Amino acid sequence: MPLINNPSILLTFDVEDWFQVENFKEYISFSTWNSFELRVEKNTHKILDLLDSFSFKPNATFFILGWIAEKLPELVRQIHQRGHEVASHGNDHHLCRNLTEPGLILDLKSSKERLETITNSRVYGFRAPSFALDDRVLQAIAQAGYLYDSSYNSFSAHGRYGKIDLPNSTNALYRIHKDFFELPISNLKIKNIVIPLGGGGYFRLFPFPLFKLGMASILKQDKTFVFYAHPWEFDPAQPRVEDASRGFKFRHYINLHRTEKKLRALISSFDRYKFITCKDFIDQQR
Ligand SMILES: [Zn+2]
Repeated sequence: MPLINNPSILLTFDVEDWFQVENFKEYISFSTWNSFELRVEKNTHKILDLLDSFSFKPNATFFILGWIAEKLPELVRQIHQRGHEVASHGNDHHLCRNLTEPGLILDLKSSKERLETITNSRVYGFRAPSFALDDRVLQAIAQAGYLYDSSYNSFSAHGRYGKIDLPNSTNALYRIHKDFFELPISNLKIKNIVIPLGGGGYFRLFPFPLFKLGMASILKQDKTFVFYAHPWEFDPAQPRVEDASRGFKFRHYINLHRTEKKLRALISSFDRYKFITCKDFIDQQR
């Protein structure tokens, strides 16, 4: 595989609503999802408008939950029409590792087809809910017809993140089969220590100057930065799940009011880099 010639930043967003996150599963059952007001549409528009406000028009990848796509097909079309990549986050935010083989394949294929029907375009990418990946899940993703998976997060201290066997790679992209790739979330590696720096709660927690330093170091080393966030992280006014544990509430609610400003600062600080979709990035490396 050639070395990466054009350092790139891959902004990715997992499109789901606040009541669908793994941390709140214990308190909010799937059967009650229909009773909540959907806030994901306006929150995703905040992200789309933020991206559009830059003159150089950064492109991003949106891993959309099938459950959301079914309710808000116009949002999926908007994302696609505004030049971003539409990819799958599964249908119902079940952890892939907990699904049976037939159930997993069905979820992978049907979520992909649902998005393809709405956009009338092929869907190439998948991200597993909560990064809960293993080798069996990875093979199923390939088998379901995806070009790439972007679910591997090397920060092993987070109990839910999965582990997989990766081939050697000289860059941030791993070729698993001839036509199937793994594009991991970026983390900072200092010797054997992995510092979570790909986005989400860690992006909200770390002061921006520190995050920026870490990000610059990752870009120097990998020539690529894969960032992730969720539309609910741009919504400080979302309803609060007071019953949840203190730890879950801290992770979910810390600095929500700062996310938008921080993402704007991230894009401005690294505006000499290319902001491209995961699919375009893979095409450049093949
Ligand atoms: Zn998710």
